[in-house]
Amino acid sequence: MHKILILGPQGSGKGTQATRLAQKLHIPALSTGNLLREEVASGSTLGKQIASFIDKGNLVPDEITSSVLKKRLTQDDVARGFILDGFPRFMEQYESAKTFLEPTAVLIIDVPKEESLKRILKRAEIENRTDDTPESIERRLAWSREKTVPVIEQYTTLGLTHTVNGVGEIDEVEERINQVLGIA
Ligand code: AMP
Repeated sequence: MHKILILGPQGSGKGTQATRLAQKLHIPALSTGNLLREEVASGSTLGKQIASFIDKGNLVPDEITSSVLKKRLTQDDVARGFILDGFPRFMEQYESAKTFLEPTAVLIIDVPKEESLKRILKRAEIENRTDDTPESIERRLAWSREKTVPVIEQYTTLGLTHTVNGVGEIDEVEERINQVLGIA
């Protein structure tokens, strides 16, 4: 069974590659960003609370993020595995993840800061995302760099990490991922 976590800076192509990998393996691609946005779109009280963080470009508190993710993981379609993008992003979430996630592999997509910044700005323009102001992008990138390092170290100690160069055509990156994961 594949339970694959995808880590990497925003704008690394994680979401795109998660979707491709999920299609190939016939398992769902989950993303905490999408799960949180879906909760916002539902108009629930929790969704309104979540929106207040996302709209400012802030992280959603761990308790809320974990509970939304945990709830999603109880649905039938993840029984045969899943790809997860966006969690755990820092040590507190790693500790929380230990209680309900047992990844079989952790994929790290490596892209230089300038490249991810360029891609995020392009995406912000296309999607008109309220959280993608230049200031919030800089803040998220800096946070991501600092805070994910120890998480990656932990998973590396467990022998679960595979690092892939994320610069290049989408097909090329996909091929590199298939290779490191041993997927034909
Ligand atoms: P993303 O789609 O990964 O760019 O996430 C969009 C927004 O959702 C982020 O800016 C955060 O506000 C929130 N978010 C996504 N994943 C997490 C997480 N693991 N922890 C806290 N907030 C998150």
